[in-house]
Amino acid sequence: MRVSFKTIFTDRHPPTEPAIAELKSWCGSFHDLGLTPVYEGSSLGNLSFRPEEGNDSFIITASQLKFKNDLTEDAFVKVHLCDPDRAIVHASGTLEPSSESMLHFEIYRERPEINAIFHGHCDAILERAEALNIPVTREEAPFGSAALVRRVLEILDDNIFIIMRNHGFIALGHDMKSAGKLAIRMHEKCRIDKRR
Ligand SMILES: [Zn+2]
Repeated sequence: MRVSFKTIFTDRHPPTEPAIAELKSWCGSFHDLGLTPVYEGSSLGNLSFRPEEGNDSFIITASQLKFKNDLTEDAFVKVHLCDPDRAIVHASGTLEPSSESMLHFEIYRERPEINAIFHGHCDAILERAEALNIPVTREEAPFGSAALVRRVLEILDDNIFIIMRNHGFIALGHDMKSAGKLAIRMHEKCRIDKRR
């Protein structure tokens, strides 16, 4: 999906933060587990982390990226700042940042203790959301829209796992390991429940 904001690039080099190696590995795991299914050539989902606590900038997967196990540096973009009112994202990297960059930005801003946001798609989790008491957004909103950001912020509170209605999940963590493991745990639990 195309981005619904304008990106202003401060430079066109991929980010070099060492922790990108860990994000690469999570992209590979999510792909292998089917948590970021490929649709029309790109993966549905976007993963980010905040390299520096207390700072709202973050590293996120590029828009229309196809996840795999050996992603190169240019698959990642550093978002420095978002201006939701003017729909502008300030970033550095070779590719456009994920269409959900505004959503990641607003969550990091609301939740200083959260340093990783992993968004994926899993039908089994969506189906089990109510049974497992997972918070679900009030209504469906288009991918990448300001309305979607509002719907998520309405239910964000101090939750670490939420569902965007008819869309997908967002796993939050103090670090990438906790966000990734949480998503995998929910995925496995819902798949097992489904088989029963
Ligand atoms: Zn999605």
